[in-house]
Amino acid sequence: MDIEDLANRVIGGERRALARAITLIESGRADHRAMAVELGKKVSGTGRQALRLGLSGTPGVGKSTFIEAFGMMLVEQGLKVAVLAVDPSSARSGGSILGDKTRMELLSRNRNAFIRPSPSQSQLGGVARRTREVVSLCEAANYDVVLIETVGVGQSETMVAEMSDLFLLLLAPAGGDELQGVKRGIMEIADLILINKADGALKPVANRTCADYSGALRLLRKRLEDPKDFPKAMTVSAVEGNGLELAWEEMNTLADWRRENGFWEARRARQARHWFEEEVRMGLLARLTKSGEMRDHMNRLGERVAMGDLAPAAAADEMLQRLGALE
Ligand code: GDP
Repeated sequence: MDIEDLANRVIGGERRALARAITLIESGRADHRAMAVELGKKVSGTGRQALRLGLSGTPGVGKSTFIEAFGMMLVEQGLKVAVLAVDPSSARSGGSILGDKTRMELLSRNRNAFIRPSPSQSQLGGVARRTREVVSLCEAANYDVVLIETVGVGQSETMVAEMSDLFLLLLAPAGGDELQGVKRGIMEIADLILINKADGALKPVANRTCADYSGALRLLRKRLEDPKDFPKAMTVSAVEGNGLELAWEEMNTLADWRRENGFWEARRARQARHWFEEEVRMGLLARLTKSGEMRDHMNRLGERVAMGDLAPAAAADEMLQRLGALE
């Protein structure tokens, strides 16, 4: 495979080349990994930056309906949109419904949109780490907006927030008690809370829910990187298209403010560092499980720890020494 050629085609905006490059990134083969790293280096020099939008919400809240309507609005404005997904369940089932093209019928047929389902890897960490690389590829391929979709399960939201410039939380209209159900940690990473389905009979409930969340957001500790009225909550209707323009305006207001005040680059720099450290951690773990000898040693030590023959910390020390990670 000619990596130089593939990189040029990706940068040139060839969709098939982008799809092939992503397959390469998602491959578990060692020789593919080496090529993927090479490819990453070759496309990194374009200086292009997309707006990376993380989007989270529980199943049924309207993520795909929202992405279809919001994405179509953006492509109609002449923007190029990529949709990626981080699906924790894909690790178990081997397949992902997030980023499924049939869920976004119009957008998937638009030539300025690119939709890719979640990679199926054995661990969520692996899924997220590969998606993070794909975000960079999409940027090099000149996409203006990269949407990264996830469900509100476990660590997936935090991981997606770590690769996003802005993080959006999509919620359904609900009574006041539901507020308790949203994890505080998620409220803290959300830049914009969108209460979806603000239409028809649900509109009054949506407005109340929005007021509840606005109140809750005001109680959170103010973040240095935000202008005074962020993070904020607002209502939208993905089905009717209401509030989508306004939501897009708010996203740009916040993005511009962060760019002008140095927080944009600082956030990206911190994230790049985070992913570097994550790669090292995962690489070390992979060494533990790939080599039969290491695995055996790990098992033997594990047995001794289980029998109370060796303390966990001491066993870990011995294992790390064996790996050459400790002097
Ligand atoms: P996802 O699982 O989060 O991707 O949710 P979907 O986009 O599949 O939507 C789940 C259900 O909610 C579908 O029946 C949609 O038609 C409905 N839905 C999505 N957005 C809206 C909306 O803005 N208003 C109303 N009334 N229903 C919506």
